[in-house]
Amino acid sequence: MLGARRVGELLAKHGVRPNKALGQNFVIDPNTIRKVVETARLEPGDTVLEIGPGVGSLTRGLAGSAMRVIAVEIDERLIPVLQEGTSDLPNVEIVLGDALKADLGSFGATKLVANLPYNVAVPIVMRALETAPDITRLTVMAQREVGERLAASPGSKVYGAPSVLVRYYSEPLVVARIARNAFFPVPNVDSVLVELTRHEPPNVEGAAFFAVVRAAFGQRRKSIRNSLGSLLGPVADETIHAAGLDPSVRPEQLTLEGFVTLARLVSKE
Ligand code: SAM
Repeated sequence: MLGARRVGELLAKHGVRPNKALGQNFVIDPNTIRKVVETARLEPGDTVLEIGPGVGSLTRGLAGSAMRVIAVEIDERLIPVLQEGTSDLPNVEIVLGDALKADLGSFGATKLVANLPYNVAVPIVMRALETAPDITRLTVMAQREVGERLAASPGSKVYGAPSVLVRYYSEPLVVARIARNAFFPVPNVDSVLVELTRHEPPNVEGAAFFAVVRAAFGQRRKSIRNSLGSLLGPVADETIHAAGLDPSVRPEQLTLEGFVTLARLVSKE
């Protein structure tokens, strides 16, 4: 594994200073790496897609437990660092690319593992869930508030559209808190480790479901009666009632099943 000293040496040798805008806080704690690898539940035949491998400390842990690791890194300065850090591992393939643009379903991956920067964590997770159906399990470290939002349940303060969309595709769970001193440079926030286990999406027309979630959370403080009026028409109140839901609830109180019920009403129209 690459500890703090080796990570520092590799960065210095290649003249790379961590880039804050790209969320470059590299994991240097062997116990954290072990915890992530264990949570990913890798099997010997798995191809793992790692987003943002950085210097390769997590990549090395993954390579020891999977058949193949495809590591997609956006920062070209890190490519030679990664090549040196993983030169003894023939099952690691390094790809220079942006995970927000790459076709995440094209790598033949069955699992995704990542330590994700704040600003791209939600879009990258959503992109993988939406476009890479062969990835059955996602294991991601993210800033605590982002991870908790991804895994939030109805009624929680941070439950929002991403939380519902995540639940449409998967069962999310915050598995562990990760202290900030597990990273170099030390970030000024804590992180969490989140696992997302893919399941069959509910049996509902996708376009109607997404339209309902967008409309409902577009007016977060409003009841669904008000925010869904334009989708359900003037009879919204009776229609929502007839489906067994209370029209005065707010979107942050609605379960996945509640949104599915509303989407079925919309797709009948
Ligand atoms: N996985 C490494 C680790 O745990 O030590 C690095 C994690 S660091 C928090 C995030 C990494 O994601 C950085 O290497 C950064 O350059 C990369 N990154 C940021 N945005 C990206 C994107 N859109 N596509 C691919 N990699 C990205």
